[in-house]
Amino acid sequence: MLGLMQDRPLLISQLIEFAAENHGDTEIVSRRVEGDIHRYTYRDARHRAKQMAEALVGLGIKPGDRIGTLAWNGYRHFELYYAISGMGAVCHTINPRLFPEQIVYIVNHAEDRILFVDANLLPLVEKLAPQFKGVRHIVAMTDRAHLPAGLAIPNLLVYEELISGKPGTYEWPEFDEKTASSLCYTSGTTGNPKGVLYSHRSTLLHAYGSALPDTLNVSARSVVLPVVPMFHVNAWGLPYSGCLAGAKLVFPGAALDGASLYELYENEKVTHTAGVPTIWLGLLNHMQSKGLKLSTLKYAVVGGSAAPPAMIETFQRAFGVEVLHAWGMTEMSPLGTVNTLKHKQLALPADQQLQVRLKQGRAVFGVDMKIVDDKGKDLPRDGKAFGDLLVRGPWIVSRYFRDEGGDPLREGGWFPTGDVATIDPDGFMQITDRSKDVIKSGGEWISSIDLENAAMAHPAIAEAAVIGVAHPKWDERPLMIVVPRPGANLTREAVLDFLKDKIAKWWMPDDVQFVEAIPHTATGKILKTKLRDDFKAYKLPTA
Ligand code: ADP
Repeated sequence: MLGLMQDRPLLISQLIEFAAENHGDTEIVSRRVEGDIHRYTYRDARHRAKQMAEALVGLGIKPGDRIGTLAWNGYRHFELYYAISGMGAVCHTINPRLFPEQIVYIVNHAEDRILFVDANLLPLVEKLAPQFKGVRHIVAMTDRAHLPAGLAIPNLLVYEELISGKPGTYEWPEFDEKTASSLCYTSGTTGNPKGVLYSHRSTLLHAYGSALPDTLNVSARSVVLPVVPMFHVNAWGLPYSGCLAGAKLVFPGAALDGASLYELYENEKVTHTAGVPTIWLGLLNHMQSKGLKLSTLKYAVVGGSAAPPAMIETFQRAFGVEVLHAWGMTEMSPLGTVNTLKHKQLALPADQQLQVRLKQGRAVFGVDMKIVDDKGKDLPRDGKAFGDLLVRGPWIVSRYFRDEGGDPLREGGWFPTGDVATIDPDGFMQITDRSKDVIKSGGEWISSIDLENAAMAHPAIAEAAVIGVAHPKWDERPLMIVVPRPGANLTREAVLDFLKDKIAKWWMPDDVQFVEAIPHTATGKILKTKLRDDFKAYKLPTA
């Protein structure tokens, strides 16, 4: 027997409609690429998104067409999220920090029809434009007055001119909720980037799940500043969950340094922020060196890479900010787990509580999670056994765009995340490594992340990375690569000595090498492939 409730599709246009109707005067504030601060409301955003949808129809865009964006977090990008998906086309967000040849590859692979580009990224696009195959128009996301002079981009359109004079009375079409809504490519540290094609349904379910109190806890009382870019997994869904909750949104534009962010946090009374650890290093350094305090910020979501213990503690102790350690992937829209404590963990002494906070957190309802061994056999949730982490759920990828890479799923519809993890009896998952980065020493696994975390607690260490290096007896042994803080006088012995009581004896790195900088991916993760390459010729003293 079927239920007798209404069968209305879940559509992205409903989010902006809901926000405009119920939170019409709630603000959206943006630091523009042009340099100034722009503010308007959800009501204004809906009007302009509708004007843009009208403009897209005028440019011949049809449902299912892909439209690329190369842009920072700002109100025009937000309008495009709703205009493009709302009319039934696909919003393809592109990471401007990818290598130029990767940008060309994905624009052509996605067959983008139009590219919307922030003013300060136009010089990049000018160079690449001749290689774009199906792009009919490039639109500068600015007005005529702010257009950089002397650009040689043929038929360049201007955002404000495109929507100017449009009525803004567009009626959002209704269609199947499984319709594609947006497209985001993985950064492709191995091989070509692969496209993850989200649907209206997956996006709305993810927005529901990610706003919950034990996830990102977004409400109509929140002021949310996503530092995580709108070109990377939809800024972790915050432009959607913000609408769903009616939160004030603050977009930082291209200025992601500590001073610029701090100014926005204070001026706009931000309560929630979200970003990767490297961003927070910059912010914390700035605030500590200037003796600053945060007056309204309550939560900092830290994800994309493991949150180092010192970061969690500094946020909490020095600034009264609770770190919400989160884990996810482009393939998961991205949210999989968030770390919030239950009564049980809150009753623990501070040092044990920190050990729990270091974990990547508990699954969001909608995400099934398990760990398996080499042979695919389920491992216990005892917080000790570690194995390959598998997930499934309605906002997790089933196939990549254009079937790139074939069927990624294992039996039972499980998606292998490529992460190695433990899950404890309370449901807290902890990443111990990437499958490719785990160090296999004498048949046992050493977690490179645990070693990095232990080292990063040293006050003279700015950053540490660990890779496995060939060893004749043990197959692989860990090599620690360290960036000392400016002015620090750090020795190999001091680093090893510091690690002594923090890790198992046989995990002790065989050597420490000092470097000026560690390479990062376009999304702020340590680029281990490059590190392994840099140290290709290196021989361990123990080998
Ligand atoms: P990309 O695929 O573009 O590199 P993703 O954001 O999809 O970027 O990367 C997902 C991966 O990032 C995860 O599989 C995991 O290895 C890592 N990751 C994400 N969040 C965390 C976290 N909190 N702790 C440790 N690793 C994380």
